[in-house]
Amino acid sequence: MGNNEKTYDICIVGAGFSGLVLAIKLARAGLLVCLLDLNRIVGRRILSTGNGRCNFTNRRMGKEYFYSNSSLDFIEDKHDELRGFLRELGVIERELDGYYYPITNQAKTIRDALENEVNALNIDVFLDNRGTDITKTDDGFVVTSHRDTFNCKRVCIASGGLSAATLGSSKFGYKMANKFGMKVTKLAPSLVGLTSKDICLKDLGGVRALGAVSYRNARCEGEIQFNKDGISGYPIMCISRFIGFDELDKKLSSLSLDFVAFMSEDELKDEIKARFNRNSAATILASLNGLTNEKVTEVVVSYSRIYPDTPVSKLDDEDIENLVYNFKHFSMNITGTKGFDNSQVTAGGVELSEIDLNSMEAKKVKGLYFTGEVLDVDGICGGYNLTWAYLSADKAANAIISEV
Ligand SMILES: Cc1cc2nc3c(=O)[nH]c(=O)nc-3n(C[C@H](O)[C@H](O)[C@H](O)COP(=O)(O)OP(=O)(O)OC[C@H]3O[C@@H](n4cnc5c(N)ncnc54)[C@H](O)[C@@H]3O)c2cc1C
Repeated sequence: MGNNEKTYDICIVGAGFSGLVLAIKLARAGLLVCLLDLNRIVGRRILSTGNGRCNFTNRRMGKEYFYSNSSLDFIEDKHDELRGFLRELGVIERELDGYYYPITNQAKTIRDALENEVNALNIDVFLDNRGTDITKTDDGFVVTSHRDTFNCKRVCIASGGLSAATLGSSKFGYKMANKFGMKVTKLAPSLVGLTSKDICLKDLGGVRALGAVSYRNARCEGEIQFNKDGISGYPIMCISRFIGFDELDKKLSSLSLDFVAFMSEDELKDEIKARFNRNSAATILASLNGLTNEKVTEVVVSYSRIYPDTPVSKLDDEDIENLVYNFKHFSMNITGTKGFDNSQVTAGGVELSEIDLNSMEAKKVKGLYFTGEVLDVDGICGGYNLTWAYLSADKAANAIISEV
């Protein structure tokens, strides 16, 4: 598929969400665009998003939903614009408590909509083409894939991170950044379950309980899911990036779980006392019924060194203190994350200090752009990572269009 005869205005390496958005915006403005991907279809990863439903953005938007080693003050709320962009492509949305999905409940709707527009715009797409190198020339760049070479005036690296390798990932973006003298931060899996050998899993494996998870300074609430070999669920996913980095640095700490996050310690103490007073003949398990999942209550009672059939009349203030402590600060040892292959996103990436954040162009290399997950920005669960892929592509598109 020799293509040396054309000089593209831009060659985009990676036809994921970010690369596709950028390609569409630039082709609409009349630029000659070439799009490369190592997969056999464009937007392969999109199909797996949101459990196959694709949660593409969120009504709650702002820098507080994203992480980076650099300042995120530049993050803009463009979730309405992203919704409008997809609507124009025929994607009708539905909103569930601020989370946006296609009304079909099928991630394929989004992927197909992007692909249809790429085809309608006659963008040159080269699939099964793994980018291997980028070389700067006097008037642009040469992008090399394992099949071909592509001449272009500009290049955008939209090759994503290291997560879920089966969906298509490579170190290409990081290697190219290094090649051009740019720094890349440490990389860690994020939005990923954790591994644990903690003894509590013998009893809690299979349990789902609402609560809050704290790890160092990070805290997140939601449904916690215990498995035989670890722990997952929304709050775990959201704090997993910190554990990923600590695992890398060999300084893992333990998790603190709050199973009664809807009450303060004092409120819980008063609640337990009131329950004990109401029926002093009740067993401890009967008295605590309904505060959280009953298996969790059993474990908390056992960790508080109280037998499950003890009548509450036999318990004193110290027992109540212990119960409150274990309900609200249940400590759980973890051994790490379930790794990049099981993660949804890569934390860390090309350092933002290397990038002009108005244009996504490398400060050191004119004409070289980076968008999406390859950069040092990762969002929490809730459509934030696709939003970042859009936001960065939109910035690059606007800057390139204003320059031509
Ligand atoms: C299971 C799962 C569920 C997710 N759910 C959600 C969700 O509901 N909402 C959300 O916001 N985010 C979700 N994400 C995260 C989101 O999918 C990514 O953050 C987002 O797709 C990143 O977009 P991107 O374009 O930067 O990278 P990608 O979508 O990863 O695209 C990069 C593309 O580059 C290609 N590529 C890589 N290396 C090369 C190379 N050397 N040459 C050529 N091509 C290359 C890849 O094949 C890929 O197609 C999920 C991720 C996973 C894995």
